[in-house]
Amino acid sequence: AHLARLLRHESKVSRALAQARGSSPDDDKGDSKTLRVLCYDTTEWVRSGFGPALMEFNKGLENLQIVMEYTEDRLNARSAAYATGYDAVCTFVNDTADSDVIRMLSMLGVKMIAQRAAGFDRIDTKAALTFGLTVARVPAYSPYAVAEHAMSLLMTLNRKITRASSRVHMSNFTLDSGLMGMDIHGKTVGVMGTGKIGGILCNIIKGFGANLICFDVFENDEVKQIGGKYVTKDELYEQSDVIFLMMPLLPSTHHTLNMDTLPKLKQGVLLVNTSRGGLVHTGALLEGLKTGRIGGVGMDVYENEADYFFQDWSAKQIEDPQLVSLLGNNNVIMTAHQAFFTKEAVDKIVSTTLENLRDYAKGMTGLEHPNSCLPKPKE
Ligand code: NAD
Repeated sequence: AHLARLLRHESKVSRALAQARGSSPDDDKGDSKTLRVLCYDTTEWVRSGFGPALMEFNKGLENLQIVMEYTEDRLNARSAAYATGYDAVCTFVNDTADSDVIRMLSMLGVKMIAQRAAGFDRIDTKAALTFGLTVARVPAYSPYAVAEHAMSLLMTLNRKITRASSRVHMSNFTLDSGLMGMDIHGKTVGVMGTGKIGGILCNIIKGFGANLICFDVFENDEVKQIGGKYVTKDELYEQSDVIFLMMPLLPSTHHTLNMDTLPKLKQGVLLVNTSRGGLVHTGALLEGLKTGRIGGVGMDVYENEADYFFQDWSAKQIEDPQLVSLLGNNNVIMTAHQAFFTKEAVDKIVSTTLENLRDYAKGMTGLEHPNSCLPKPKE
């Protein structure tokens, strides 16, 4: 089946290349160049976002045409071979570009990874540097989209909106059985990671009249100006009625919430994670929900989301017992990595990704690329 898929894909590649040659008679001759890009993990919004935008974008390019082909498959060691004949691959949050995949891409002649997201924790950037691949991302698309979604998760969880709405739609207009929430006004809200998204969220939290405390390895002056107080990690755990996780997934942030941190949390704390699932040890989260140490969680990301998110599993049996436990818990609100998903953010993802590809084709490679996420050499 894999071979058949590969062959089908190869014939699509040939068609795309022929098309590219047709649309650009001077293809790769003289000064004119075609950049061939294979876009992995594409769903409808990706194709409809890139399709018309790419046609317009190409019209404004001189001596360069970008040709993009799409595959629904994720990038991994099995599907890397699809990239035969392409100059670049375009990836998303659940594609895997570990060192083996990068080595294969490099052997196939792929020279660039255009990540159409801000986070790039599944790309081995050290390996990319070693194999001479340029890696560029979309550093900010709409931090507002993510911050607003994070607050929506909190309020949906806190005010039991999902349960309340489904009961009302079944003509049950009572307030019995677990609909009571709490005021956020006057509560202590902890934000871990006060960068672009966390900083905007701090403003939203202040708008609710909450007491804002923060933890970050770098303090954000704008957050301090609006009254955010930086505290230690343990102080944030002890004092917060609500905790938002807003930092990237790094070795230093992996499993920030774990069995050891659990006892430090205020009883009944509400947790919101829109950043990366790996920030939370799922076993510890389930334990916290079971004992009531964690009163509820709003999550847009899940540690093992790669096997499920962005796919329709409604007619299939979910095999991940931890995911099943989370989905069966009334104190869990889960969305499938959609915090970024607004029109403004998608437009920005598309335009920045195309600019990243153009800049690469115009010679901005490696660390010179304006949106490079390759590791910088230590000074
Ligand atoms: P950013 O780089 O602007 O901010 C991240 C902040 O985390 C920085 O202030 C940094 O100093 C801080 N940080 C780093 N290490 C830390 C540590 N050990 N402890 C505490 N803080 C630490 O990033 P951003 O644009 O605000 O995005 C944050 C994350 O949100 C991204 O890395 C990505 O994983 C996630 N994200 C999710 C979605 C979604 O749709 N769910 C969309 C975009 C981004």
